[in-house]
Amino acid sequence: MTATYDAVVIGAGPNGLVAANHLIDRGWSVLVLEAQPDVGGAVRSDRELHPDYVHDTFSAFYPLAAGSPTIRSFHLEEHGLRWVHSPAVLGHCLPSGEWATLHRDRTVTAALMDAQHPGDGDAWLRLCDMWDTIGDQVVGALLTPFPPLRPALGALAKLPRVGGLEFVREMLTPVVDIGRHRFGGFAPRILLAGNAGHSDIPLGAPGSGLMGLLLTMLGQTVGYPVPEGGAGMLTQAMASRVRSLGGDIRCDAEVVRIEVERGRAVAVRTRDGERYAATHAVVADVAAPHLYGGLVAADDLPAGTMRKMESFELDPGTVKVDWALDGPVPWKSEPPHAPGTFHVADSVEQMSEALHHVNSRTVPARPFMLAGQMTTTDPTRSPAGTESLWAYTHVPQDVARDLGEDPVTGRWDREECERFADRMQARIEELAPGFGSKVVARRVLGPHEMQARNANLIGGALNGGTSQLHQELVFRPVPGLGRSETPVKGLYLGSASAHPGGGVHGACGMNAARAAVAHRRVRRVVRGR
Ligand SMILES: Cc1cc2nc3c(=O)[nH]c(=O)nc-3n(C[C@H](O)[C@H](O)[C@H](O)COP(=O)(O)OP(=O)(O)OC[C@H]3O[C@@H](n4cnc5c(N)ncnc54)[C@H](O)[C@@H]3O)c2cc1C
Repeated sequence: MTATYDAVVIGAGPNGLVAANHLIDRGWSVLVLEAQPDVGGAVRSDRELHPDYVHDTFSAFYPLAAGSPTIRSFHLEEHGLRWVHSPAVLGHCLPSGEWATLHRDRTVTAALMDAQHPGDGDAWLRLCDMWDTIGDQVVGALLTPFPPLRPALGALAKLPRVGGLEFVREMLTPVVDIGRHRFGGFAPRILLAGNAGHSDIPLGAPGSGLMGLLLTMLGQTVGYPVPEGGAGMLTQAMASRVRSLGGDIRCDAEVVRIEVERGRAVAVRTRDGERYAATHAVVADVAAPHLYGGLVAADDLPAGTMRKMESFELDPGTVKVDWALDGPVPWKSEPPHAPGTFHVADSVEQMSEALHHVNSRTVPARPFMLAGQMTTTDPTRSPAGTESLWAYTHVPQDVARDLGEDPVTGRWDREECERFADRMQARIEELAPGFGSKVVARRVLGPHEMQARNANLIGGALNGGTSQLHQELVFRPVPGLGRSETPVKGLYLGSASAHPGGGVHGACGMNAARAAVAHRRVRRVVRGR
């Protein structure tokens, strides 16, 4: 017998769970089907490396969630979520031992910058003032469906106070130029650039400035919080809210087909042969290449959709390393305030070069790395005096060459992953001599392991598709499909492959759920009931 729900959500990542929560709040009956044994998508944690250490399997720090009106509106604290913060938000240690530090107290950040380069402190506070004036509108505009009319009107009203067109121009300026124009010292420039490097937009390209400012200013205003006990606590709280309101969640339930009748999504089928009908909506928290021509047969789609999907671009792959350390990271020079997140690059120029290499199918000899000291941030992650640490770096989806001394081919089998992890570990060893002797256990997740643990992470792509301008806004995932609506009625794309893309903000799921609710309202009006 087929069970019937108002909506079936495919995938229990943060976007799927946000969609489910919103639909339940609107009185819908909802079923969430998740392929993996547990909910969470790329927001999960585990103890598989060492029983005494919690490691976040994928993502770890959540400025976008903490700044997201959607996620805040669910009051997840009532479902066990507790945000905790590291002493400093973000650090960057140069090979010289000098630190760039972003502290949640902007006056501390500014004082540290000023000590390195007089004048940078005031310049930093001016940047923060500008963000105080218009930051909420910028975040609002990014997190609502395109075109973001309401936040755009709000931003327009505030524009004169932040310099009018000059502000707009700066938002479109590459991050390296923003850093150079505003600051003289290395710290603010490398912090902004490192944050832009969370996406795959080249640091010299438009879009990188907005990304760098967004993440840096969120770090300054809401911090980079983590859920106490592990990243998984965030999605467990979302799932707990779904269940407490009567929603169903089934794990180990991979959806293999979305049934389409007369152009409308009516049901889904799982690998074990179950069929679930959806009266009003199917929300797919699924990577776009797996949806179009995968879960939805090509025959059920306009020919143009399949043609456009041929030019869909993934973002680069990822290699992530987790370490259990028997002591703190032995920094060669102690940071002024211990950072939760830290970036590894020798300079802005070297970071830029490494990212450029990845975008040109080349594995960098000295990869740019993002890393996290989790026990420093949340003491529950491992025994007192130890550290649960991770670092990841991007690698080309399709490797043409490797500039390293011990080249990898891009096979990313176990041997290559471990060898590449040695290269990453050596980067930390340079900044923290003796690091290797602190390692109790290490886990390396290469592109294949990532995808096996979450089908959305195709080849280790963590943003559901490139974040470069040509695949953002109305072009995401492909031109003409710039909203969560799909060519199939009642089917909504709610994953990071939809606008506004990767990151744990829940906007893709929320946009999909809101579109489904709005369409149901229209259908009711049209049918007169
Ligand atoms: C290594 C890594 C580090 C990251 N770091 C951060 C960070 O620190 N901060 C941040 O904000 N973002 C970070 N991100 C990005 C962020 O985690 C993702 O953008 C976000 O999780 C996307 O959410 P989603 O719900 O769209 O998809 P996902 O989280 O990928 O979830 C999709 C879910 O759908 C399920 N699924 C897929 N296909 C099917 C199917 N056919 N049937 C049933 N279920 C299916 C998957 O199993 C998965 O559970 C990181 C990502 C990675 C991989």
